[in-house]
Amino acid sequence: MLRTHLIPVLALLAIHADSHAAERANEKNSALADALASVNATDLRRHADFLAADTLEGRAAGSRGGQAAGGYLIDQLRQMKLHGGGIDGAFHQAVPSGGRNILAVVPGVDPDLRREVIVVGAHYDHVGYGNSRNSNGPIGLIHNGADDNASGTAALLEIAEALSRLPQSPRRTILLAWWDGEEDGLLGSKHWVANPTIAKDRLRLMLNMDMVGRLRNDRVEVTGVRTAHGFRRWISQWNDEPVLSLDFQWEIKGNSDHHPFYETGVPIIMFHTGLHDDYHRPSDDVERLSFGGMERVTRLMLALLLDAANADKVPAFRSASRRETTEYARRQFERPLDAPAPRLGLAWDAKDTTGGLLVKAVDEGSPAGRAGLRPGDRILALNDARWRHEDEFRALVWAAATPARMLVQRAMSDTPIVVPVELAGSPVRLGMAWRVDEAEPGTVFVVQVYPGSPAAQAGIQLGDRIQAAAGREFATSDDLLGIIAGQAGSFELRIERNGAVKTLTVSGLPTFPAPPEATEP
Ligand SMILES: [Zn+2]
Repeated sequence: MLRTHLIPVLALLAIHADSHAAERANEKNSALADALASVNATDLRRHADFLAADTLEGRAAGSRGGQAAGGYLIDQLRQMKLHGGGIDGAFHQAVPSGGRNILAVVPGVDPDLRREVIVVGAHYDHVGYGNSRNSNGPIGLIHNGADDNASGTAALLEIAEALSRLPQSPRRTILLAWWDGEEDGLLGSKHWVANPTIAKDRLRLMLNMDMVGRLRNDRVEVTGVRTAHGFRRWISQWNDEPVLSLDFQWEIKGNSDHHPFYETGVPIIMFHTGLHDDYHRPSDDVERLSFGGMERVTRLMLALLLDAANADKVPAFRSASRRETTEYARRQFERPLDAPAPRLGLAWDAKDTTGGLLVKAVDEGSPAGRAGLRPGDRILALNDARWRHEDEFRALVWAAATPARMLVQRAMSDTPIVVPVELAGSPVRLGMAWRVDEAEPGTVFVVQVYPGSPAAQAGIQLGDRIQAAAGREFATSDDLLGIIAGQAGSFELRIERNGAVKTLTVSGLPTFPAPPEATEP
């Protein structure tokens, strides 16, 4: 499920202008670009305006307003010329407790893969006039549920329309589902899972949107990222400019329609733009939606859907996610290592660094102190290496073998002297430690950054996930060590931070033979 980048294909075209493969890839890319562009704030607003109007009386499952909302969805699907996804091609599936799921299907075109199904869903019901169980008050007024979940409902309509306009349908089959009765306890999605209109063993992935209308600070909560290997990396790859800040959750709450699918062992992903004061109140109105934000969130969901539907393989359910669905598990995994002790323990005059570093202070009992270094000394060389900039000196100290030899010009002395220093700790070159994440092969998670090290100077932060070094991806932690060991001077690291992929440049990496980096299995 690796994305096809637009740029490389265009570059390929320039070189092999007559290549049919490149033309086909380019057509595919432009179809994708058209599909993404067809999702727009104007259409999202039109759908949300209808669904969250007072005339629909809060869309309670089984109510007049709920019935009207379902009718609107079916009308839209008919206009798009999509097929019903219920039994015998029906657009709905009755939910015995009241209401109905609205279903549409886009049959896959690949002779083998069309058997496999991606479900993308959103609940369209809300709480009507509210009651003491489902409303945060005041009750008795229409709860329009603009964010919850006219937003997801509108987003899914835009996705449906984009699918209906594709020049060619995706390889896998896609089931679009607007669930009813979510607010009464996920009744619609539970009913579907118990009475599937498509055999459950055909399901490969379930995508859910619940409350995607209040994007603030670009932040989107993403649930389910650990339900299959590599989901985090996959989602981040599609998070294009302007990037969303993805808050990947470990906990999988039973609070929306992904949950019945998760329970039966289907990988899931849910998008959610966060709670707010209007949640389950009459004030959850359409005026408070961010349609620009919805457009961005919907486009990312559509990109994921299309990629999953066209990929050669969709990763299987990762059952270990069941043991990890707590904040505690996440904190345990993400806990940083303690900052390493300084190897030298002295401070120098940052304003006077020409011709060596002028020592300003020496920590008591530090390696520098024990070696007899003192304020006023000027450090000229470390293990015969000199530097142009104090950052290089910091990197040299982290990387130096011990005992180290310092060439020091002492005040009032004519010739420099050699001072042996027992540096603290072991030498490191790049200056970071990482942890392997079983859920995310081919990436490592940064748990320690040495202050002043080349890693720190490159801007690496705790919690970053390394995806590639020197332009090379890696399978294991050892592979990454090998790539780094082969670098000197400067090289690039590709990292992912909050779902955004960035390239950082490491420079000043010492060139002498490298000790292994600090890692933790
Ligand atoms: Zn909801």
